[in-house]
Amino acid sequence: MRDTHLAAGRCASALVLCLCAVAPGAAADSGGGMYVAQPKVVKVKCVSRCASKKRAQGGSTLRIVGSGLGSAEEVVFHGTYGTGDDVSTPVRPSGDTRLRARVPGGALTGPITVVTSQGAESRPTAPVAILPPPPPAPNAVLSPVPGPRDAGAPQIETGTSRTKAYVGARRAVTFSFRVSGGTASALTVELVNGSDGSVVKSWTPTPASAEVQSITWNGSIGHTAATPGRYSFRLTASAPSGAVARSAQTGDLQRDAFDLYDHVFPVRGRHDYGNEGARFGAGRAGHTHQGQDVFAKCGTRLVAARGGRVKFEQYHAAAGHYIVIDGAGTDLDYAYMHLAEPSPFDPGDRVYTGQRIGSVGDTGNAEGCHLHFEMWSPPGWYEGGEPFDPLPSLQAWDSWS
Ligand SMILES: [Zn+2]
Repeated sequence: MRDTHLAAGRCASALVLCLCAVAPGAAADSGGGMYVAQPKVVKVKCVSRCASKKRAQGGSTLRIVGSGLGSAEEVVFHGTYGTGDDVSTPVRPSGDTRLRARVPGGALTGPITVVTSQGAESRPTAPVAILPPPPPAPNAVLSPVPGPRDAGAPQIETGTSRTKAYVGARRAVTFSFRVSGGTASALTVELVNGSDGSVVKSWTPTPASAEVQSITWNGSIGHTAATPGRYSFRLTASAPSGAVARSAQTGDLQRDAFDLYDHVFPVRGRHDYGNEGARFGAGRAGHTHQGQDVFAKCGTRLVAARGGRVKFEQYHAAAGHYIVIDGAGTDLDYAYMHLAEPSPFDPGDRVYTGQRIGSVGDTGNAEGCHLHFEMWSPPGWYEGGEPFDPLPSLQAWDSWS
């Protein structure tokens, strides 16, 4: 197959991407003799939106008791594995001995620390148990909001079309709302990332009294695919008097919330991963297996794990009918082989995440009906990239879709 695609090869070196992370700003130097209050945490307790047995969960509020907390700036949740799963939340201290911190949706069980505006950090606490946030509460139909509302503020109803969304999918997420009880003078809709509480996008729709208005989001921010995770819409409506109504409280990870995923499992039926021979790297005559096989009945619906542009759609004696898709918003290529029939898509066509691209088959050199699935690193399929083991990805996608 290598020869088939070399003609289309581009200069790999010109396409090397910089994967270097931008180093965070150097920590503030507190200077030689300057006194920096060392924060100390003595007690941590979940006080609102807690899970059972007073355990914390994403969206809960913790009360932190200690000393030197007056200049606290953020609380870091250190999670379980190294620094990769650390998340932090900004805090505004109300005194030197007490602090309230909202648990970000992405926080995992582990020690927490308090960091001050001078960069001083408390010693890590004993692990704080944190359960994952419960799934979003579906509210596809407009319903009155339970959120905070000033006297004289407009009444608001909201609804969100789905609780699961996929990057690059045809169907976006729609947030609908209606403001009644007087015309609002200003409306703001914010899209909040539940893992850290940050606002990733906002809209300012023109107020229209008692009419259903809506906003649609397709999973990208600018031209970049958003990070998978929990998101929620937040509407703020202000009356001419200045009275304000909000659709949900800060930290509510369920109201008008949805989970964004970056891939769909491609085989849409009963399936298994076969034996050792089906694994990436398994021996083959003259080469090693470059993908993972997923066994399913011939004819099982096959969808694009990630949408993008079709790079190749061909027949090959070994691969049978196959299709290669350059994943939108990724650096990766995805190859699907042994399709029962040629995919209806042609090179250059755009495919959405979850869109049908064909059926599981056994064309080419295949023993039993299965999908042979490959993932390729940049710059891509026989263009200087390398295939890598797709099984961990497949298993993750399999767990949610
Ligand atoms: Zn295979």
